Amino acid sequence: MTRRPGFPARFDQGPLGQAPRARAPVAQSAVQSPTPTGLGLDSHAIRARMVQRIAAQGIIDARVLEALGTVERHRFVDSALVNQAYEDTSLPIGLGQTISKPSVVARMIELLLAGTQGRLGRVLEIGTGCGYQAAVLSRVATEVYSVERLRGLHEKARENLRTFRLANVHLLFGDGMLGYPKGAPYAAIIAAAGGEAVPAAWVDQLAVGGRIIAPTVLATGQQALVLVEKTPLQVRQTVLETVHFVPLKSGIA
Ligand code: SAH
Repeated sequence: MTRRPGFPARFDQGPLGQAPRARAPVAQSAVQSPTPTGLGLDSHAIRARMVQRIAAQGIIDARVLEALGTVERHRFVDSALVNQAYEDTSLPIGLGQTISKPSVVARMIELLLAGTQGRLGRVLEIGTGCGYQAAVLSRVATEVYSVERLRGLHEKARENLRTFRLANVHLLFGDGMLGYPKGAPYAAIIAAAGGEAVPAAWVDQLAVGGRIIAPTVLATGQQALVLVEKTPLQVRQTVLETVHFVPLKSGIA
């Protein structure tokens, strides 16, 4: 078991740091209100511990760790699951889909950033889901185009992201297997759903020097992360570790 100091965190209801049973008197700062047991309810501290665990798994890119330490994952999950928001696990977000595991989000974004400095340019995300990863990407890229094929989740992401006012995130409803030509060429493309192969449209819309990271089903039937690197001379694919993502599907619903 990993150490989880300070858990369970209670964000049952209400805004950040205002645990219903531990609410500080109104006159006091409502930003952080300690519980009688002294457990931290400051979500920043809980995220910092999540980031420590992710760093312990080998993620070293400071841009990635900063982004994961900043984006409030608990705002993207159902209120009944808020207590698990900072555990390293995928969680249901409705319509049979899941929010990705934080360590996998970190790993994939670190792979996209490898060899670059500062912010990435335009990034295309396939599978907005609840919008969490799009928010993380908004901190490491100049522009984020995120496509979702399920209208219900596209709208949920819009709702979830509203309070963050991320001017560089563009949510699109459509079939991401076709990419999004209007935003191309992309410095990076990241898929949050696993297909049978990396669609040709994504490779076409990738800038030279850019990278795609996509869960892909291998001949063995297992799903693994596939890294695509586009150089002036070739398109190189590298198969990395096994993963478990929801399927990439064509069309909209
Ligand atoms: N990045 C998301 C993870 C969502 S799960 C998050 O942070 O929550 C993957 C999502 O990919 C699902 O919402 C699913 O509907 C979507 N998806 C699957 N195939 C797709 C396609 N062809 N185009 C766009 N979205 C797709």
